[in-house]
Amino acid sequence: MRCFKADLHIHSVLSPCGGLEMSPQAMIQRIKELNIEWIAITDHNSLANCPAYAKVAAENGIAFTYGVEIQTSEEIHILAYFDDCLKAMEFNETLYGALLPIPNDAEFFGDQVVIDAEENIIRLEERALSNSVLWNLEETRAAVESYGGFCVPAHVDAYANSILSQLGFLPLEMHFPLLGITSGLILEDFFSLHPEMKELTFLRASDAHYLSDLGCGSSRIFVEMPCVEELVMAANSQNDRKILT
Ligand SMILES: [Zn+2]
Ligand SMILES: [Zn+2]
Repeated sequence: MRCFKADLHIHSVLSPCGGLEMSPQAMIQRIKELNIEWIAITDHNSLANCPAYAKVAAENGIAFTYGVEIQTSEEIHILAYFDDCLKAMEFNETLYGALLPIPNDAEFFGDQVVIDAEENIIRLEERALSNSVLWNLEETRAAVESYGGFCVPAHVDAYANSILSQLGFLPLEMHFPLLGITSGLILEDFFSLHPEMKELTFLRASDAHYLSDLGCGSSRIFVEMPCVEELVMAANSQNDRKILT
C-alpha cells in the first residue's frame, strides 16, 4: 500500500474565472514543488483540457486522473472521475450535448481556452461552461456511471453550488461513498452541524483556479495504485485502503 498526497479538484485555463497562468507546465511545476503526487483536472462541464495536462503530468511523474466538475440542473457541483481516458472523452461529448447552449461572455468570465501539451491554443470554447447541464442530480450520476465514471459531490460544505446549499440536505439514499469538502473546512465544526455525516468519507482538495491556490487543500490517499477504481475502494475503506483529510 502506498500513500499519495493528492489534489483531485483543480481547474485549468479552460475554466471560466480561472487564471491563464494555470498552463500545464506552470501548474505541474507548482504541483511538484508542493510534493503533490496525484492530481485530477476538473474543469466546469468539460474534460477538453485533460489530455494536455495528463501528458505533462506523465512526463513529470505525477499521477493523473481525468475529471470534470459538472453543474447539475439544481446547480449542484458534482465531480466525476474516470480511469478510461477514451470513455472519459466520449462522456465529454455527451456532457457537451447536455450543456445549455448559451455563449460565453468572455469580457466578464474570461476566455475558455482549450490547449495542447505544448501550450498551443487549439480553440476557444464558445459555449458558457459556467452554466448548468440539463441533467438533475440522479440523471448526472446515471450518465457518469454509464461511462464507468465515479461521482463525488463537490465541496459539500460550501454556501453555493453544494448539495447542502441546493437541496438543504444530503440524500443519504443515494449512498455517495465520498464527499468533497473545501480546502479549509474544520470537520469537527462541520459535524456539530451535521452529525448525520460523521461516519462518511471525505475528500479535501484545493479547487484551485490560480497557481497560488494550489497546496491549500489535499488528501492522503492510501491505495495500491493512483486510479479511480482504488479511490472507490479507499472511499469504502476496503482492504486497508483509506483516505485521510
Ligand atoms: Zn464548484
Ligand atoms: Zn471547482
